[in-house]
Amino acid sequence: MMSALSAADNAQLFRELASTIAAARDELCRLDGVIGDADHGIAMEQGFSAASRAIDALPSDCTFADQWNAAAKGFLNAVGASSGPLYATAFMRAAKAAGARQALPLNEAPGLIVAMAEGIRSRGKAEVGEKTMVDAWAPAASAAEEGMADGLSVSEILTRVREAANAGAESTKAMVATKGRSARLGERSIGHIDPGAASAAMVINVIAESWGRHDTH
Ligand code: ADP
Ligand code: MG
Repeated sequence: MMSALSAADNAQLFRELASTIAAARDELCRLDGVIGDADHGIAMEQGFSAASRAIDALPSDCTFADQWNAAAKGFLNAVGASSGPLYATAFMRAAKAAGARQALPLNEAPGLIVAMAEGIRSRGKAEVGEKTMVDAWAPAASAAEEGMADGLSVSEILTRVREAANAGAESTKAMVATKGRSARLGERSIGHIDPGAASAAMVINVIAESWGRHDTH
């Protein structure tokens, strides 16, 4: 039988996201200090901490949609930086994709990566190659879509999703920023990884690791 994720698993995922991002706060602020305003680690820490607390405050019979929508609201209210509305939109798209269900079949989970990436792209209007978090999210989503279309196992799909996100974040080093705060640096942004892409790769890795633990095939 195909394994499924429970709402409790999803709450645990958000606790892991909050603790991983909290541990990376200073590093993300340092990266943002090079090409932005040095607040990205604080924004992400506060956002994921608020998202996780919002989920933990829900009743135990809540659905996946309730959880992702609560995460969106918590993140948006906690974060004034541009990452706030981007992640809030991502989580609202995940809520819609997961639906009002208390269990999510594991083979549908990679579809949430696709939904989140699409949310970020439609909210921020950035394309691949513009040195933003889209450069991590979009290749991760493509890997998820291709893996699902090819009928790969969930853990194989998630491995490819992680590799694509990591390579995508790394690829921003060579790019010139044209979106967001770092765009004013122009050519001087070359050689530095985009902080939003770096944190996106961290987020995608935590999500894929968490889901991958449930693939018992
Ligand atoms: P701010 O730039 O307001 O200080 P953060 O520091 O939290 O916000 O986030 C900066 C990151 O947001 C950038 O590194 C980039 O990845 C991402 N970003 C900025 N603008 C966009 C956009 N239009 N689309 C997608 N991502 C964006
Ligand atoms: Mg910033």
